[in-house]
Amino acid sequence: MILIVDDIPENIFSLKKILELHNFVVDTALSGEEALKKVLKNSYFLIILDVQMPGMDGFEVAETISGYSKTKDIPIIFLSAVNTDKKFITKGYEYGGIDYVTKPFDADILLLKVKTFYKLYEQKKELKLTQEILREEIETRKAAENKKNEFISIASHELKTPLTSIKGYVQLLERFLNKQGEPIINNYLDRTNLQLGKLQSLVNDLLDLSKIDNGQIEFNKQPFEFSNMVLNVIETIQQTHDCNISLQNNFETKVFGDEMRLEQVLINFLTNAVKYSPDCQQIDVIVSEGPNETVITKVKDYGIGISKETQEHLFDKFYRVEKTSTKFQGLGIGLFISSEIIKRHHGSYGVKSEVNKGSEFFFSIPVNGSEKEI
Ligand code: ADP
Repeated sequence: MILIVDDIPENIFSLKKILELHNFVVDTALSGEEALKKVLKNSYFLIILDVQMPGMDGFEVAETISGYSKTKDIPIIFLSAVNTDKKFITKGYEYGGIDYVTKPFDADILLLKVKTFYKLYEQKKELKLTQEILREEIETRKAAENKKNEFISIASHELKTPLTSIKGYVQLLERFLNKQGEPIINNYLDRTNLQLGKLQSLVNDLLDLSKIDNGQIEFNKQPFEFSNMVLNVIETIQQTHDCNISLQNNFETKVFGDEMRLEQVLINFLTNAVKYSPDCQQIDVIVSEGPNETVITKVKDYGIGISKETQEHLFDKFYRVEKTSTKFQGLGIGLFISSEIIKRHHGSYGVKSEVNKGSEFFFSIPVNGSEKEI
């Protein structure tokens, strides 16, 4: 609806007719005071305001309108017969007015301006609607994300308890059966333990994920022998895999950080290197001193490799390379957790890879930790 404010009824009459002829709904007010009452009660997309009126003049009306939150954005076209000099025109803009037309006005030009404002109003309405829809969508997604996080947290906690019991019972069985020396049973128990280990690391990953999401992941940083940690991890992984893992290490300094968490990163890089290298023969681990007192650890495999386009997403939560996701088991959270651990050590990480040639995952962290802890 458009509001025309003019103290002369004849002026209003002609303007109203023109606008109505073009399908605009028009309301009128014969004084500034009446206009103020109306704008607070009704909704207008435009006010055509005569400047020269007894009582409140057009500018006073505009100033008051721009003070109300409900009406401050309504555009105004000022109409004036006399005040055509530039200074006056700027005054119109200062008071939130958007356009200014001098009388006698050209009906076509005024109509054009009204139509432009109407178009703007429609676009603004549409934009508002889209924003509203987007806001709702964001809220819905946030709620779903929270529910999913809550579920992961509960599920992983619930899984951990029976898993610990199973591990305990398998150990008891092992002790009992070892005495009997049945090789086939021992073999089955070894396999059970291997699968239990995998299950446990999945559950631990899920627990870590929910801790990261809830900002509850804690770090216990202390100085430790970095190369010992690397050596231990390689030895452990080597025990359960045929693939040869070599180590090239020129770094013997102690590092300030959370040993267990950094070990987790290396285990993740190494198990991925083995997993994504069918018929794996060789994996190289290279530890070296980096610039600005950092230590760089690289894990190089000669497996399936990763295409350039997918490399940037590898460290995202739940990301798995689609083409290969059905061939290899996984949840797509190991690299995400690793990236969080490295970030919390103020370090950096990345990958260089070529399809069918192999990948090199690396991370670098400051040797002495950082002054500011996060
Ligand atoms: P997961 O291995 O459980 O799927 P990760 O977060 O450890 O989860 O890895 C994410 C994805 O990155 C994997 O699904 C895989 O597509 C890709 N990826 C990781 N490491 C390698 C690697 N060494 N070679 C090829 N692809 C890899």
